[in-house]
Amino acid sequence: MVAIKVQTPVNLVIQLPSLQIERSDHREIEVFSKIKERLELENLVRPRGVHVSDLLDPRLSYWQETSPKEITERTAWFFAIGKVLHMLVVGLYDVTGTDSGTKEELGILYSPDLVIDNRPIELKTSRAQKEPPATRLQSELSHYLEQLCCYLVLSNSLSGELWILYISLKDVTNRTFPEIRCYNVALTEEQFFEIEKQIVEAKRGLLEAKTTGEPSKLPLCRAWKCGDVCPHWIQCRPPGRYGLQRKNWAA
Ligand code: SF4
Repeated sequence: MVAIKVQTPVNLVIQLPSLQIERSDHREIEVFSKIKERLELENLVRPRGVHVSDLLDPRLSYWQETSPKEITERTAWFFAIGKVLHMLVVGLYDVTGTDSGTKEELGILYSPDLVIDNRPIELKTSRAQKEPPATRLQSELSHYLEQLCCYLVLSNSLSGELWILYISLKDVTNRTFPEIRCYNVALTEEQFFEIEKQIVEAKRGLLEAKTTGEPSKLPLCRAWKCGDVCPHWIQCRPPGRYGLQRKNWAA
């Protein structure tokens, strides 16, 4: 028996006639080109030096500087999503004394999304459909916390906040919806100084690799950034990852 697919009529207030709808490759390319131009411009005016982001993925930073590649469409759109949210939320708090701009400490450039009452706040978007349970906040949010902790040390603060806008959390009926989670994050003084030591060492290692042209001692980047999605994959050939199945190292 042949199954017949019945198209459910859409209940619209305006009864539409049969429309001519065509995807416009031309417009898509045009919009992407504009976003790419904007990102390239931002890269040009970005202060030169070691940024916190360079310390989080030092190999990527090494290759980006020594062998720059074109911005891909995927990178551009991911960046655009974060940028829109950032502009909107930061604009809400944009009062005198709040944030902003790039600062420098320990020879490292950093620019938290917001600073309120001297506490840095990092804002992220996530496409995860489930939020981490309270018992696994640190392990599941570690890549965001790593960045925030660098900001805490560089701003000489023992506490800050992490805000995450989940853009498609699932509810019990499996429908997706956006929702924000804001977390207070605090360090002890001992933890603060331990992280400070690690930051200084990470910067030293990165500068040494850039001077000697030898990246092999640099730690591998975070797994979700790695693999053939990285434009430097073939040049970098990260040991323990390159040539192996992704599921064996990206778990
Ligand atoms: S291939 Fe992986 S380790 Fe190498 S630069 Fe890219 S993300 Fe980093």
